Amino acid sequence: MTATGTGADTGGEEALGDPVAGCELCEAARITPWYHEDGICWVADCEVCDVPMVVWRHHGADAPADAVDHMLDRLGAVADERFGVGGWSFDRVMRQVPGHFHAHARDPNWWFRRFAPRQATRLAADAGAGHGPTPTMGG
Ligand SMILES: [Zn+2]
Ligand SMILES: [Zn+2]
Repeated sequence: MTATGTGADTGGEEALGDPVAGCELCEAARITPWYHEDGICWVADCEVCDVPMVVWRHHGADAPADAVDHMLDRLGAVADERFGVGGWSFDRVMRQVPGHFHAHARDPNWWFRRFAPRQATRLAADAGAGHGPTPTMGG
């Protein structure tokens, strides 16, 4: 669509916040699995952290309380399924995109699972019993 409209027929009052060019959350690129989407938010794996993340549809940091409730509820449902009830916690610190509301659901091992170098386990195995069986990482 290349229509540069005249804006004559914008009768709605639903403009809460326009998408901001260059904001990766407004872009909502589907580069990871999506679990949920509705008019308020979407839930997908965070590309960086590999944990579920909910993102507000509107660009802005101050989401209304009822929208926040809704988003955390949706994120919680996904996280419960992924990590089990009680196996994760909300992280509402918006480190990467401070101007656009989003929240992560992190399990205690997310950092290790995502960022720990495989070398570490290998070196530890070498330093241990010389001829022990190769440790198998369970799924
Ligand atoms: Zn945005
Ligand atoms: Zn993340």
